[in-house]
Amino acid sequence: MDLKENTNQVFQQVTKAIQETGREDGSVSVIAVTKYVDIVTAANLIDQGVKHIGENRVDKFLEKYHALSDKGVTWHLIGSLQRRKVKDVIPFVDYFHALDSLKLAQEIQKRADRTVKCFLQVNISGEESKHGFSKEELLTVLPDLSSLDQIEYVGLMTMAPFEAQTEELQKIFKETQELQQYIREQQFPNMPMTELSMGMSRDYKEAIQCGSTFVRIGTAFFK
Ligand SMILES: *Cc1c(COP(=O)(O)O)cnc(C)c1O
Repeated sequence: MDLKENTNQVFQQVTKAIQETGREDGSVSVIAVTKYVDIVTAANLIDQGVKHIGENRVDKFLEKYHALSDKGVTWHLIGSLQRRKVKDVIPFVDYFHALDSLKLAQEIQKRADRTVKCFLQVNISGEESKHGFSKEELLTVLPDLSSLDQIEYVGLMTMAPFEAQTEELQKIFKETQELQQYIREQQFPNMPMTELSMGMSRDYKEAIQCGSTFVRIGTAFFK
């Protein structure tokens, strides 16, 4: 594993995808998902210039955060969160990407000591194994979510099926972008809805084509 080479490649590929789409340089943030590696490797990655770290599990998030919080990076919790663990982790989270129920939002509201930036996770593909609101469900709960003023709803997060090919990926990501724009136009309080968290190692190019502003990349850094 050549961390330096991999990091250069990821950033080059992301820049290329941004330019090919005619978007502005710097309009996509790269989150390095460090769930596959130890603290030392994550630290090395930060030394290579990575500015965003993502973990999908609370225990791993806290482990990395407590070891590396002096490095000045932004901390993303990207995986599903049980309500009983909210109080342990939410004080340290800069962005939470997997808000998938009103009950979880109410728990965050109760435990937050400041405004927490959250992505609402949507299950656009309809896969049973995936977390997230369905489109219809989300539109129904928006007013209730919006009344929770300790949460800033920065955008939508989605995941495409593992085996999806280009056409299906574009369909899912476009639909997510359209939903984000529709919600933004409603101008609910606490809901700027300017961001899109979509794209992983195998589908970030398609995601960037469809307006993603945060890509969550693991494997490509550590192959
Ligand atoms: C692991 C993970 C990623 C990164 O996936 P790769 O395919 O390794 O790039 C992105 N998002 C979530 C929620 C993950 O759990």
